[in-house]
Amino acid sequence: MKLKIITHDRIVFDEDADEIYTMGVDGSFGILKGHIPVMTALDVGVTKVVKDGKEQMFTTMGGVFQFKDDNAIILTDLAETGSDIDVARAKAAEQRAEARLADHKAEIDVKRAESALARAKARLKVALNSQTRPKA
Ligand code: ATP
Repeated sequence: MKLKIITHDRIVFDEDADEIYTMGVDGSFGILKGHIPVMTALDVGVTKVVKDGKEQMFTTMGGVFQFKDDNAIILTDLAETGSDIDVARAKAAEQRAEARLADHKAEIDVKRAESALARAKARLKVALNSQTRPKA
């Protein structure tokens, strides 16, 4: 099957895939060749693509997933690979969001802090996975 990951300004990925795992608004799910058509909203998270036993990971920050006739399309606000991600910045964002959520003051925008935390965690997962993986 084919997968395209498209953002507002670029095609981040356009290749064959054997397995696709991503984060929908109702939780994570996986797709294999021959799956019935799917159309669903995406949450902030990680999309993992497996091809010939090799994994590639991307952050996918919301958007839409469509699958039909063995063609998958992810239209997302932002998609990053390991090399795009500054780990120190993501760790700082994670700590900032966790500190805000731990600080039970009325003026804290909980939803905003939770979103920032989800973005930071997705970035750290993708970046750390790409660091531990030998280059293809
Ligand atoms: P921060 O608080 O560090 O800005 P954020 O989650 O608020 O993080 P976003 O609004 O999701 O940032 O992204 C804004 C822009 O900054 C995007 O182009 C995104 O790719 C980039 N960006 C955010 N965090 C990182 C990071 N850790 N490494 C590289 N680029 C990043």
